[in-house]
Amino acid sequence: MKVILAQPRGFCAGVVRAIEIVEKALEKYGAPVYVRHEIVHNKYVVESLKAKGAVFVKELHEVPAGAVTVFSAHGVARSVQDEAKARELPVLDATCPLVTKVHNQGRRYVGQGRTLVLVGHAGHPEVVGTLGQVNGPVHLVQTIEDVGTLPLPLDTPIAYITQTTLSVDDTKHIIDELRERFDDVVGPDTRDICYATQNRQAAVRTLTAMVDVLLVVGARNSSNSNRLRDVGEEAGVPSYLVDDGSEVDPAWLAGARTVGLTAGASAPEVLVDSVIDALRKIEPVEVALLDGTEENITFNLPFQLRQQTPAHEKAAPSAA
Ligand code: SF4
Repeated sequence: MKVILAQPRGFCAGVVRAIEIVEKALEKYGAPVYVRHEIVHNKYVVESLKAKGAVFVKELHEVPAGAVTVFSAHGVARSVQDEAKARELPVLDATCPLVTKVHNQGRRYVGQGRTLVLVGHAGHPEVVGTLGQVNGPVHLVQTIEDVGTLPLPLDTPIAYITQTTLSVDDTKHIIDELRERFDDVVGPDTRDICYATQNRQAAVRTLTAMVDVLLVVGARNSSNSNRLRDVGEEAGVPSYLVDDGSEVDPAWLAGARTVGLTAGASAPEVLVDSVIDALRKIEPVEVALLDGTEENITFNLPFQLRQQTPAHEKAAPSAA
């Protein structure tokens, strides 16, 4: 069996930064460090950080007074930032800078007097955070059909922003529908969809022309991983999302000579390796790498973690 690895795949710059923030916080301030929500959507990553002393909580009231607190890569609503401030919690913000960019853009559009439409998935933490970062009403649109039921006069000046991890194609169709229905619509097209999501989807699109089956390593609750599976399915290739090699079902591979393998932006390479090991248990495997876009984007750590602090001078970051 030939296995072709998508390029790029796996960790993006926002995920690398978020994990490094928790690891460096543990090094600098000592355990425990409290993390609000899964730092990124991957159980393996979360369990590894738990083993090093991170404590994951759903809400800030679970964080003891004065404890170092990290916000996840997906971003948070203003109300969460305000609560942390009121409680004087020392906060390290692991919100991906590309998510923060969307928040800023949304606020700018509202400041220009436009009605804001957010294209995204209800309940996803990034969407919850973005809705809570903008003053004033934001209309959430998940499908083309939702555009038709927006309770807005057709001459309303509209601006849209999008979740960073959507399907490029689905989003384009929704934006086209918005432009079709309303007279005055501005927005960034699909540029809010981050470089990592775009590059991983483009690689899968190329891969689908070459493979019989597509395996995507990623968590069930990872938006960008689900979209990679969708891209495979839309191209007519049977596509499966797996946490790791233990979930590979040999029945999926019956008759397949070439298997495509990719990973969502929050899935570590060790889990891709575990899938290759699982395939090797089924039959001999030859691994090839797809030619693809090289990524060299990195994001700075929060200033509190940029300087080295001698162990005897450990001090928590200042309150948010
Ligand atoms: Fe940031 Fe994109 Fe990675 Fe999300 S997927 S953390 S927006 S780089």
